[in-house]
Amino acid sequence: MSARLVLMGPPGSGKGTQSAGLAAALGVPAISTGAIFRDNLARKTELGIEAERYMSVGDLVPDELTDRLVEARLAEPDAAPGFILDGYPRNMEQVKALDTMLAKTGKSVDGAILLSIPDDQIVARLLHRAQIEGREDDTEPVIRERIGVYHSKTEPIVGEFERRGSLHRVDGMGSVEDVAVRLRAAADAAIA
Ligand code: ADP
Repeated sequence: MSARLVLMGPPGSGKGTQSAGLAAALGVPAISTGAIFRDNLARKTELGIEAERYMSVGDLVPDELTDRLVEARLAEPDAAPGFILDGYPRNMEQVKALDTMLAKTGKSVDGAILLSIPDDQIVARLLHRAQIEGREDDTEPVIRERIGVYHSKTEPIVGEFERRGSLHRVDGMGSVEDVAVRLRAAADAAIA
């Protein structure tokens, strides 16, 4: 059985926190494009330096760069049984790119899970995270921009997965453990 899942949700919805545990439970890697960009930036790679121009203002990194990165990561052996994608795809073009790269090996996305929290919670959570982690893109103006980008570019892809009949909604409010239980149920339904 494969588990090729897309985990969606606004910034601060808990995708990063939850994807690792869910991936471990399903025996597949959690792949976060944001984390890969941040790791590249920390190592001052060319990719990281290029991505930073966009991340620092809350914009999306160009599709061409992001798609190439994801395709290379999905080709690694640990992703053969599946993956949890956290933060990708983030617009319609990336949905198409993901479909195309999976189709090359006769595969497709099994399901998408939408982790939702209200907008006022997003800002509160990210400002709180800024104090703990010191992530450079967690300042109020950049947070507002990321929320705007989420609504304008990423939310339309929720409708796309809904049309495909592969969208599962999970309430992201509550304790980490409570959300993990709901998420696991949604993942089981998505890959059933
Ligand atoms: P969050 O979801 O909390 O905003 P992420 O770690 O997922 O945080 O993303 C941080 C930044 O990395 C984004 O604002 C964007 O600049 C870049 N990024 C991450 N994933 C993508 C993607 N799929 N396409 C383009 N840019 C991305």
